Amino acid sequence: MAELTVIVGCMFSGKSEELLRLLKRAAIARLSTVVIQPTTDTRTVGRVCSRDGRCVDAVVVRDARAIPSTAGLYDVVGIDEAQFFDEHLLSAIHELYAAGKRLIIAGLDTDYRGERFGYMDQIMAIPEARIVKLRAVCMRCGEEATRTFRKSGAGAQVEIGDGDKYEALCYSCYRLASERVTAPNPTAAAAQRVLA
Ligand SMILES: [Zn+2]
Repeated sequence: MAELTVIVGCMFSGKSEELLRLLKRAAIARLSTVVIQPTTDTRTVGRVCSRDGRCVDAVVVRDARAIPSTAGLYDVVGIDEAQFFDEHLLSAIHELYAAGKRLIIAGLDTDYRGERFGYMDQIMAIPEARIVKLRAVCMRCGEEATRTFRKSGAGAQVEIGDGDKYEALCYSCYRLASERVTAPNPTAAAAQRVLA
């Protein structure tokens, strides 16, 4: 029976790890699995890895329109870094779900500004979606982290990086950190961004 699981959360929250865990369960149940990743994710081309070092091979897809044909032969379809795909991802998901596939979509639901990322919000709004929203550990205070903080401050939405460029922060630490990187009028701009 078709299933749609959507794994979201900030960076370092274990989304890929959860994706790999669900794929492993499917493999134990003798279902065939495939993992798809967008070309934008240049950190680990052709592989999806969890933070604890486990990896699976992934098929790199440039255009979301190619997802149904890539996934067609498999029972279970995992898509990592789904926020980087264009709007055709939505129709691909609908097509595969209608075909009875078990779909596991992992991605950032919000960017470093706390604003929606790609088409993740629309995927989460699909009535059949089961949402798994994960939290990281705040890298400054140890509380639960809900936000991705970009150390370099404002700029384009997509800037590929990992621990070198981003931190997982709780709401309070995010507000403090945002005030420090936003010049020349840090407090007002940061407060506005957090509250928006
Ligand atoms: Zn914190």
